[in-house]
Amino acid sequence: MWFRPEVLQSVNWAGNPNKPVEVDQNGDHHLSPRQSFAKWQETVKLTSLPWKACEIEAALELRSTIVGVILKKADELAKINIELARSNSELDAFAYIASHDLKEPLRGIHNYSSFLIEDYAHLLNEDGVSKLQTLVRLTRRMEDLIDSLLHFSRLGRIELLLKNNDLNEVVNGVIDILRINWKTIPVEINRPQPLPEALCDRIQINELFSNLISNSVKYNEREPRQLEIGYYQPGELFTDLQGHTQVLAPDAPRVYYIKDNGIGIKERHLDKIFRIFKRLHGPAKYGGGTGAGLTIAKKIVERHGGTIWVESIYGEGSVFYFTLASWRQGDERPII
Ligand code: ADP
Repeated sequence: MWFRPEVLQSVNWAGNPNKPVEVDQNGDHHLSPRQSFAKWQETVKLTSLPWKACEIEAALELRSTIVGVILKKADELAKINIELARSNSELDAFAYIASHDLKEPLRGIHNYSSFLIEDYAHLLNEDGVSKLQTLVRLTRRMEDLIDSLLHFSRLGRIELLLKNNDLNEVVNGVIDILRINWKTIPVEINRPQPLPEALCDRIQINELFSNLISNSVKYNEREPRQLEIGYYQPGELFTDLQGHTQVLAPDAPRVYYIKDNGIGIKERHLDKIFRIFKRLHGPAKYGGGTGAGLTIAKKIVERHGGTIWVESIYGEGSVFYFTLASWRQGDERPII
């Protein structure tokens, strides 16, 4: 908009305006009177027509309009952010209070149905006993769901205790504990290189690794279950599950990953698994669960300024990636 084309123009001067100054034998400069008063014509190139006052005025007007619009947008965005932060913390508080208060009557229902089975089972027929047993099972499940919700809402309220932690030690601790539950399940864990130190909250990072590693074994029917726990440095080669290799951008944060040879996840479910209480299987299948593990993992990663995502080939295995630091705003993932 601000460029104007060249317009060739003829300018008439009363004489040559660039007439050279005369230099005498001694090197002195002299101005001499004009010898000709003939009109001197010049063609002016590489110059546009002068700006009109109305055009300059329009440009200034446009500038102030743009600045006004940008300021208004920034203002609106700031207001939305404040509102979002407020409703987020209100939601956390609501989830906390609701789940906390729901626990008490639920405990009562659970206890009374247990008493009924203990004291009156002999008065009921088989169908009646089975119904009572279902009631107990359902209250136990509801209690698990409420506990997960309570835990999830607490996560957002607890202050992070950021310290440099040796992630290798964290993972060693997590695996030692999980092995107690795995008992005879054959699990092979490959760690291509020791994990580095990272600035993080030890308890929360412990929980993050615990959720992801236990899922890799839980949603896996292979013998042995094969896991790989590693990370990519910025600037390093990065190979995805499809075998595409790219370079991790030099300004991207480290990408940690947990890879398994498990049941995999269908493409259409990839974005759903991070939602709270979203399970892709029946409540008792694959060792059960409340469907809050990945939602909690996501919250932990986001509280650390990172992002979590998954790649999977159904029937072959999955890789969960996460970072613990933020990168350029607006990027969904590190640029690779
Ligand atoms: P939970 O394990 O309690 O059901 P999660 O939030 O940890 O809840 O997981 C949600 C769902 O994501 C699981 O029900 C499962 O279907 C799927 N999932 C999670 N991790 C894996 C994995 N490593 N491989 C295949 N599916 C997985």
